[in-house]
Amino acid sequence: MNKRLVIIGGGPAGNAAATSAARKGVEVVLVERDIVGGAAHLLDCVPSKTMIATGGAMSFTNQLSGMGLEKRDAEVDVEALTTRIEGIKDKLSSDMSALLTSQGVTIIRGTAKITGQHSVEVSAPDGTTTQLEADDILVCTGTRPRIPEWVKPDGERILTTRDCYPPRVFPESITVIGSGVTGVEFVHMFASFGAKVTLVVSRQQVLPGKDPEVAAVLEDDFLSRGVRLLKGARATSIERTENGVKVICDDGRVSETTHAVIAIGSIPNTEGLGLEEIGVEMDGGYININRHCQSNIEHIYAAGDVSGKLPLSSVASMQGRKVAEQVVGGPKGPHRHLDYDKAASAIFTEPEIADVGLAEAEAFASGRKIRVTKVPFSSTAKALINNDSRGFVKIISDPATGEVLGGSIVGRHAAELISVIALAVTANLKVTDIEESLLVHPALAEALAEAAE
Ligand SMILES: Cc1cc2nc3c(=O)[nH]c(=O)nc-3n(C[C@H](O)[C@H](O)[C@H](O)COP(=O)(O)OP(=O)(O)OC[C@H]3O[C@@H](n4cnc5c(N)ncnc54)[C@H](O)[C@@H]3O)c2cc1C
Repeated sequence: MNKRLVIIGGGPAGNAAATSAARKGVEVVLVERDIVGGAAHLLDCVPSKTMIATGGAMSFTNQLSGMGLEKRDAEVDVEALTTRIEGIKDKLSSDMSALLTSQGVTIIRGTAKITGQHSVEVSAPDGTTTQLEADDILVCTGTRPRIPEWVKPDGERILTTRDCYPPRVFPESITVIGSGVTGVEFVHMFASFGAKVTLVVSRQQVLPGKDPEVAAVLEDDFLSRGVRLLKGARATSIERTENGVKVICDDGRVSETTHAVIAIGSIPNTEGLGLEEIGVEMDGGYININRHCQSNIEHIYAAGDVSGKLPLSSVASMQGRKVAEQVVGGPKGPHRHLDYDKAASAIFTEPEIADVGLAEAEAFASGRKIRVTKVPFSSTAKALINNDSRGFVKIISDPATGEVLGGSIVGRHAAELISVIALAVTANLKVTDIEESLLVHPALAEALAEAAE
């Protein structure tokens, strides 16, 4: 008889596990309380990237005069943008539901709770409950925005990231609290739509933890667009004023804007799931997992953001596929263990930022000898043709073996171009493998080959 896998949560982790396990002959039941496709994925990642794409198109029109075209100021149509965001979200969700159903996955709408080592109870929106038996259970319930106790979002002026889309109004001015990936993407997004933006940066650098050279390019871009950076400041309270908000920082600095948005991370959706009751080990609400995504109870798995590893859709999907593999007895044939240190990630600002593998600062801290080569995009014909020469490619390799250990890219299409370095890092390729690839001309990728020389 086929094994039965019950998956709680239909985000990237749950969907990838479901389709992959179904293909391997597992009977799969997927329980989703909200939107198939995933809350963080379809309510955060996709709308934010859609708005950033529209903002990018607006700033592109402002560069047209440099391309031999007449400059025309684009204006945003909030209603059309909202329809676009909803349309993309609905299409992705319905395509995913259709794919799952076509593969024989049973989708149940409702909120799931684990009631025993092999049982799950689902409460449907109409109040009815269903009991499910499972050989294996996968928990991939995602996260939600973290709201500190000193702030009460009101959905009007004091916003969480999820209150920002679809965009009911575009703020005239906004204070963004938090300068991690989400924070800087929101700065870029609102600045692109013409808002006056203030960013509260708790350290001395935006994107703490990232390569300082990369962060500096972004800071320069923000400053050139009139963004006010409050460095070394921690917001401690937000008050409503007659026409907006007043954000007060621990060093006495104040930012008065029409709106404020909190972007200081997320918390896992694990409370009320019944995990403590059956003895699943957790840390700060995140489920502890081994390299096969198993919790301390081996047939109870966790994947995606609840696992407290890298909060990325791509990682969530990969973990989901690894769970499917493990449910049917482990990997068959040649395979690699999931190595979180080799995950590529991108920040969708302007210029885009992407990196993978070992960072220069990390190598320096560990005393590891590395070779760093850096090539600006301005040395490629394509950058000039694009009328955008910002940014660079940096490749980090082992000076003795030539093995590619990591890299960062800042510039147009960085999120796409990083795939080349990501493949090299994952497949233990050498710089000569990139250098000797016959790439397209004219293309920004030529900077990759040059950096590999
Ligand atoms: C603003 C923002 C932008 C982002 N941009 C990117 C990006 O550009 N690239 C990228 O790779 N990642 C991005 N991410 C991160 C990405 O969205 C997450 O890493 C990804 O969605 C995690 O997938 P998941 O499957 O773990 O969870 P989710 O996508 O959150 O899905 C979890 C699902 O579980 C359901 N659920 C929860 N509890 C229950 C329950 N008890 N019963 C039934 N269902 C339940 C939820 O409704 C939800 O649909 C972004 C995140 C944010 C906040």
